[in-house]
Amino acid sequence: MTTDCLFCTLYREGDHVAVTDGFVAIRDINPQAPTHLLVLPERHVDSFREIGEFPPEEAKRMLDFVADVAAREGLTDYRVVVNVGPSAGQTVFHLHWHVIGGWS
Ligand code: 5GP
Ligand code: ZN
Repeated sequence: MTTDCLFCTLYREGDHVAVTDGFVAIRDINPQAPTHLLVLPERHVDSFREIGEFPPEEAKRMLDFVADVAAREGLTDYRVVVNVGPSAGQTVFHLHWHVIGGWS
């Protein structure tokens, strides 16, 4: 946990759409599509570059949760996006998975 990290704070006290052990989903404050969720791990790493810091079982559960969240929202077709680094559009430096869909 990093005290000055927005997503560490939202992990603890945000409005969660879905929760599982070590992961939550929230709605993006500035949605880019009818459905735009963010999946956040409790474990703070700055970006996807540090994915190796997750034990394999935890990384697998994170990806399963991304898929579960999409299914729970009724999404069949959707995008899963991770921006890595500022030049790629990353603005919050706590790993998160965008789940974007709901066009029809
Ligand atoms: P990034 O640009 O780092 O890939 O994604 C960060 C995302 O976090 C953006 O889509 C942005 O709209 C969202 N975001 C920024 N601040 C907040 C906030 O306070 N609450 C929520 N729910 N989303 C936020
Ligand atoms: Zn954090």
